[in-house]
This record gives sequence, structure tokens and C-alpha cells, in this order.
Amino acid sequence: MMFSALSHLECPRCGARHDADRVTNLCHCGSPLLAGYDLDQVAAGVGPEVIATRPPSLWRYHELLPVRSPNHVVTLGEGMTPLLPLARLGAEYGAPRLLMKDEGLIPTGSFKARGAAVGVSRAHELGVKGVAMPTNGNAGAAWATYAARAGMRSLIAMPVDAPEITRRECVVAGAELYAVRGHIGQCGQLVNRAVAERGGYQEVSTLKEPYRLEGKKTMGLELAEQLGWRVPDVILYPTGGGVGLIGIHKGLRELQRIGWIGDRLPRLVAVQAAGCAPIVQAFHSGASTSEPWPDPRTIAFGITVPKPLGDFLILDALYATGGTAIAVDDADTLAEQSRCAALEGTFVCPEGAAALAAVRALSASGWITPDDEVVVLNTGAGLKYPDTVSIEDVPVLDPDGVIPS
Ligand SMILES: *Cc1c(COP(=O)(O)O)cnc(C)c1O
Ligand SMILES: [Zn+2]
Repeated sequence: MMFSALSHLECPRCGARHDADRVTNLCHCGSPLLAGYDLDQVAAGVGPEVIATRPPSLWRYHELLPVRSPNHVVTLGEGMTPLLPLARLGAEYGAPRLLMKDEGLIPTGSFKARGAAVGVSRAHELGVKGVAMPTNGNAGAAWATYAARAGMRSLIAMPVDAPEITRRECVVAGAELYAVRGHIGQCGQLVNRAVAERGGYQEVSTLKEPYRLEGKKTMGLELAEQLGWRVPDVILYPTGGGVGLIGIHKGLRELQRIGWIGDRLPRLVAVQAAGCAPIVQAFHSGASTSEPWPDPRTIAFGITVPKPLGDFLILDALYATGGTAIAVDDADTLAEQSRCAALEGTFVCPEGAAALAAVRALSASGWITPDDEVVVLNTGAGLKYPDTVSIEDVPVLDPDGVIPS
């Protein structure tokens, strides 16, 4: 059994096959490419009992990851984040079997570390010397961090409004960073031009290379393993570019193909902010692609993507699993963030809070029933967004002041 069973790259739109051992971005038809594996070889060569003996990082699934040699694995110990029961919050929602996979506990404080670990490792293996990307913050921070770990250059452009900590993470990692007065799409145009003019960099923005998705699919693999190689009834995911959702769907289907989980898949739910909800709009009109969302605006910065490149893959995952899509107001997101921290002692990011608010709404509407085992992905640490919590009402005392008795 080889370290990786990667066999080829495949286009989900036109069906073209591509060589996986060359640096590749999109298919000639413009679609993102998906990594393909020799799943028969995986099924024959390894089983859950072998996986169980491996160290608790996402690399425990290396047969289903694209890096061919362990020497090229660039790691900071990412993966195997906790799957926490949220019993009090779940009882309040009417979803007593509520669980949260907490991606706040991962290097760089967001699940973007998964995509960066696998994406940077594979780029490094293929001889790429520099990576370039537009970002809403967390992806840039994660790729800059893992690029530094790999000894690679990184060129990052993010909106000036992106969470300030992510700018600092890029700077400390030695990235070449630009803060752009504009949105992520406009950052992308700037990066695109720079990459074409300079050479020496691969563009690694969302779904424009095939391996970030492979890192993110490990959320699905871990979830299945943590539940004893079975799946929950519902998974809610705060959806921007949708890489996590597409990845979880892809990972679970691979597990089905190798026989480690059964036929049933969870109903997948894309959660978006009311101020930027192209997938929700497309889903409820039965469309297979989305329309660009005009004037995107939300405090959940990580899910501010007006026109996801992989929209057709996200929508396909929702339709195929009997899932749904739902938009959440910022006010509800912020209220849910506080409620979760106060009831469960966990400080989730705004995007994770939006997904929790969606459980509240879908339980109220009856789409989620009390019997459903529900998993929410908290995609990052609340600690990265200190400004979402107001501290104005905290009394400030002089040392000779008095604490009320
Ligand atoms: C990027 C990001 C998301 C959205 O991720 P996609 O997989 O691109 O949809 C959600 N939450 C946080 C905290 C993020 O940084
Ligand atoms: Zn194609």
C-alpha cells in the first residue's frame, strides 16, 4: 500500500481527466478539478483498525490525501478537533442530540489550516516555490503560516476590512501582503495579474487548485471516525466558497465507496448570512448555479463570497443529500454567539454562531426534529474576533474602588 492512493484529477463538469502529478489549476472548461483515488486499493490495503493506531492528526487518512511522500508533509499538528455535545443549547433548540465539531482548536484558529496543510504540502511536493491568493482573512493567514513552515514564499491580498488579526498573522509569517480597498473578488483580480506578470507563483485561491478541498474533506472523515464510522442525520456548515461542504460530501462518499460507512448520507445544510446569501437564493429557486450577490455585507466575514466558483458543487451536495440552505441575520448570529458561550462555555466564531442560529431556526420550523443527530461545524475560534463582543458595560475601578457586596 502506497502512502497516497491519488490516481488522477477529474473534472466534475466536462468529465476530462488530468494528470495529477503536474501543477494544475482549473480544467480547460473553467471548472474546479477534483482529486481521484484508487479506492479499491485503499479498501484492500487499509481499514479502520489501522487508522485507529495512527497519531491524531488529519494525516492519519494519508491514503485518501494527495501527498505522495511523507517527506513532503508540512504539518503543525492539525486535525482531530473535538466533537462536543452541546446538551444545554440543544435542549433549548429542541435538538437534544446536538454536537459541535470545534475547528477553533487547530493551528491558526480556523479550519482553513486543513486546506493549507494539505494544499501547501502538495504544492511543495510538486516543486512550487511560491503561492498567491486573495482571501477574506483566515485562508491567507493559514496559507502564509504553512508556506513559512514549508520554506515557500506567499503573496496575499485581503480586503482592508478583513479581521485585523489575520493581517498580523500574514505579516508575522513573512508574507508579501496587500490590504485592498475592495472585496475579495477585486483582490483576486490584483493577484491574478501579479501571478501572470511575475511567474514563480501558483494561484491557490478557493477551488482554483484541487488540493485545499482534500484537506477540508478530512472534517468529514474525522466526524465519521469520531462517531464510530457512521454519520449523523444533519450537518450544518457556514458556507462561503463552500469548500468545506463540498469536501465533507466528497469525503463521505469516498468512505462509502471503501465500505467504511453505510449507504445513508447526512442531510447537508449550507448556512449563509442574510447579507450575502447567493446559495440560499439559488437553492430555493431550484437552480444549479448561483447569481452574483450584489453589495455583500455581514459581520461573518469568512462567508462573504458573492459568487462561489464551486456553486454547482455546493448545490449538488444539498440536493443529493436532501439538505437545505438557510440565511441568518447578523443580529441573530451575535445573540447566538453569546448564548453558546454562556450556556456551553465555548467561544465560537461568528460563522459558527450563524450555523447554531440555523439549528434554532430549523428546529423551530420542524425541518430538524428532536430525534435528529445534528452536527454543527464551528469553523474558527471566537478569540480571533474580539470585536464581536462588547465590553462597554464592564465597570472600571480604581484600586481603591469598591466591588458591590
Ligand atoms: C472561510 C471560512 C468559512 C467558509 O468556508 P468555505 O469552506 O470557503 O465555505 C467559514 N468560517 C470561517 C471562520 C472561515 O474562515
Ligand atoms: Zn472540464
